[in-house]
Amino acid sequence: MTSVLVVGAGVIGLTSALELLNAGYKVTIIADHFNEAPKTYMTSEVAGALWEWPPAVCGRHTNESSLKSSKRWCMVSYWKFIQLASEERGTGIYPRKAVFYQRQKVEENADEHCKMQELSFLPGFCHDSQLIDEFNVNRNYGVKDAYSHISPVVDTTQMMKWLYKQCKDHGATFFKRRVNGSLLDQVDTLLVEYDVDFIVNCAGLGARETADDKGVYPLRGMLLKVANDGSKMPKLNSALVMPLNEEFMAKDQRIVFILPRGENDLLIGGLVEAGQSETEGITFNHPQIQRMLKNCQDFFPALKAYQESDVKEIIVGLRPFRENNIRVEMEPKCRKIIHNYGHGGSGWSLSWGCAADVTNLIQHEVQSKLWSSRMMLFSKL
Ligand SMILES: Cc1cc2nc3c(=O)[nH]c(=O)nc-3n(C[C@H](O)[C@H](O)[C@H](O)COP(=O)(O)OP(=O)(O)OC[C@H]3O[C@@H](n4cnc5c(N)ncnc54)[C@H](O)[C@@H]3O)c2cc1C
Repeated sequence: MTSVLVVGAGVIGLTSALELLNAGYKVTIIADHFNEAPKTYMTSEVAGALWEWPPAVCGRHTNESSLKSSKRWCMVSYWKFIQLASEERGTGIYPRKAVFYQRQKVEENADEHCKMQELSFLPGFCHDSQLIDEFNVNRNYGVKDAYSHISPVVDTTQMMKWLYKQCKDHGATFFKRRVNGSLLDQVDTLLVEYDVDFIVNCAGLGARETADDKGVYPLRGMLLKVANDGSKMPKLNSALVMPLNEEFMAKDQRIVFILPRGENDLLIGGLVEAGQSETEGITFNHPQIQRMLKNCQDFFPALKAYQESDVKEIIVGLRPFRENNIRVEMEPKCRKIIHNYGHGGSGWSLSWGCAADVTNLIQHEVQSKLWSSRMMLFSKL
């Protein structure tokens, strides 16, 4: 049986592992952090985890080919999330109405118009400026238009547990361990040590080291968690999102990212911050938290009911971006290593599609090895 070592146990590592297990491979997973909240949060658990069509509010692509691949991965993931939500219990996936607010009429912005048209076949699609009043959004904030569709929103704590258990139940073996240095430099040792045929690199930000890729960098994000039980404002069952007002990392960002988390919580965000890698000791009085909350309250005045004492948690994480876009490919110098990292602010949205590509890459490699050995045999006859 072909066996695979997956490095990393975030959403990218565990979805890759599960797809491989389902395709009949033997899988071992190693990571220096497994899902150990509340002690340490890994990025995958920090995420708001709203499924978003590329380019997402916190997504960036430097070329058309990256955007095209991301759209393919995103669509595969959409239907996988919807299927899991309807067929499995305890996944933490909530298909919800997600409303995307716009600062101008959608038709007046060619990119946004194209993006909306690509989404128009999704369940629950609706383009209507009445969505502004339906949710009592402040028109004076500068909102002019909106569209909505059903989007998977993931309770990350629950789904990380579910993914881990699925991998375990399907026979994966786990080892807590840090890989020091690049995988390429130690590929032969690791293949022998874990008795595997391939290594899949899903180390997120750690790929800076495991792939020796200096183009991997963090963009910090923060979210406030409050109760969404109807005690402060009517319970919100939909995600309300408004993209950046200016360029990707403008100083005065006005991203609105308000989304229900699980049954009874609400996340308020967002922020895309370069050059900051501190995730500990961020308090309510941190200027970015204050600015973020005020921005969301200006947009959605019902949030003014929440005070400092209502904040259950301040969640901070580092999105694993890559200068040359997301990397899902066979390592050019060694056909035993497959990379799957650099998902930035879209790891959940793209996870299942990328995992399917990883499985296909390995399947092709196994098949082509098999055929070339058969051809050799035939040629000798
Ligand atoms: C505030 C915030 C909001 C977000 N919102 C969304 C959203 O709404 N929708 C969405 O799709 N995405 C969102 N994201 C992005 C998403 O969280 C990430 O893209 C995704 O979690 C990346 O997953 P990963 O598995 O690659 O990385 P991680 O979750 O960081 O996992 C990496 C794994 O690799 C292991 N590892 C790293 N280095 C090594 C090493 N040297 N040796 C051994 N193991 C190693 C780690 O221990 C860990 O297990 C958000 C992120 C943030 C921070």
